[in-house]
Amino acid sequence: MVGRVIPVEPFDLVVFGGTGDLAQRKLLPALYHRMCAGQILPGTRIIAIGRRDIDVDGYRALAAGALQEFASEDRKGDFLAMLDYVKMDVTGGEGWPTLASRLGDDGRVRAFYLSVAPHLFVPVSERLVAAGCRTPGTRLVVEKPQGSDFVSAETLNRTLASLFGERQVYRIDHYLGKETVQNLMALRFANALFEPIWNARHVDHVQITVAERIGVEGRGAYYDQTGALRDMVQNHLLQLLCLIAMEPPATFNADAVRDEKLKVLLSLAPLENPADVVCGRYLGGDGMGSYLEDVGNPESRSESFVALRAEIANWRWNGTPFYLRTGKRLRARMSEIAVVFKDAPHSIFPPAAGAMAPNVLAIRLQPDEGITLGLTIKEPGPGGMRLIGTPLDMTFADTLERQGLTMPDAYERLVLDVIRGDQTLFMRRDEVEAAWRWIDRAVAIAGNTPGPPHAYESLSAGPEEALMLVHRDGRRWRPIMARASDEQ
Ligand code: NAD
Repeated sequence: MVGRVIPVEPFDLVVFGGTGDLAQRKLLPALYHRMCAGQILPGTRIIAIGRRDIDVDGYRALAAGALQEFASEDRKGDFLAMLDYVKMDVTGGEGWPTLASRLGDDGRVRAFYLSVAPHLFVPVSERLVAAGCRTPGTRLVVEKPQGSDFVSAETLNRTLASLFGERQVYRIDHYLGKETVQNLMALRFANALFEPIWNARHVDHVQITVAERIGVEGRGAYYDQTGALRDMVQNHLLQLLCLIAMEPPATFNADAVRDEKLKVLLSLAPLENPADVVCGRYLGGDGMGSYLEDVGNPESRSESFVALRAEIANWRWNGTPFYLRTGKRLRARMSEIAVVFKDAPHSIFPPAAGAMAPNVLAIRLQPDEGITLGLTIKEPGPGGMRLIGTPLDMTFADTLERQGLTMPDAYERLVLDVIRGDQTLFMRRDEVEAAWRWIDRAVAIAGNTPGPPHAYESLSAGPEEALMLVHRDGRRWRPIMARASDEQ
């Protein structure tokens, strides 16, 4: 069986930073897969921009290397023929006329993907416009980070708005391209089952966890300026929170969905209690460097872990805590959203039957994207009425595999959405700014907390103090654990 693929008209995609890590590791493979699926048609031009002194054949050789692991496919020649390369330093004046002439003026959709460091977002955008490359069919794709606080994000947005219409700007958060994240909307809004219980009366609390096993790796200098709050919570975790908490939009279109997400961000109660923000940083050992060693800054005060207790002050969620946590060098790579329902109001079973576990709807983003509903059932067998918790499990890859389909990478979907002009899975300007306003407060609380972030052992569940964040409410974190198929 073949997935339903609607091809897009041939387009031009210009990738600034075409020799960089994101382009090589994510964008080129994503484009290649979409071409193999028949969605990207011959005649499409992908123009990479870089400073490296190579010609188009040199770039095609580089791209062939990036696609090496997909050796089973034999369409690489067709793909490489779509690639072009323009060498330029984007901060200078040379190269822009060449780019403009390669693009021509055939009226097709053109997208400029800013896969460069954030300080280049504005210079590139300004030069694009000055070089006459902006057309009505132009889209600008902006990678993260979009600012480092409210003020810088607002300044970036204001500058971009002076050059491009909001409908032309695609702010990427690749979490939103994940199959499970979109399935979350299908689960909530295409099934009547959950809506009546999706509120403070029936939901005890929500946990959102994005745990990584790796440390800061080669990104130490960048990470030390940023920290987990800005790098992960402002975008990925708050976007997930929005999708869980938002009201049903009237229609599934970009502004209707984003209006509802914005309302959630604006309803977040401002953080007041310092105990609601717990920062940590990992220790070294067993051949692994500590956070301070990895970032090479003994004076660092930035966090590689953060746990937060958030509340949404509206009718649906009043009094329901949303616990967020993310960190590096944790026990396993695991991202999930867990909606923990309240206990059944009364047990008809004798104490010997055992406890009834609360129902938990766990939405896994990685690894093994899928959804699990934890139910309590009778333990099978003749031993009388004994209750056990059991998961109703749906792993998307298995389901897709049975249909002969594979799980598309988030970038495959997002890049094609850009070309189709669908902004539903991209952040609007006001969303980004509202998220920063809330995070700025968390950053201020973390900054005003005396002493460095709490230490935690590498490959643990984070600092003890983060346990207290939920224990003091009489709750527990869900375990951070690998699934059988996780290779790390
Ligand atoms: P990178 O450093 O690997 O690549 C940056 C590219 O920009 C390189 O090709 C470099 O040659 C080019 N470049 C730098 N200065 C230039 C100049 N003056 N003129 C022309 N080209 C220039 O970075 P990356 O990891 O690919 O990240 C690119 C962007 O994507 C960044 O904004 C980053 O925050 C974001 N991002 C990356 C990832 C990832 O997985 N790598 C994930 C999320 C977001």
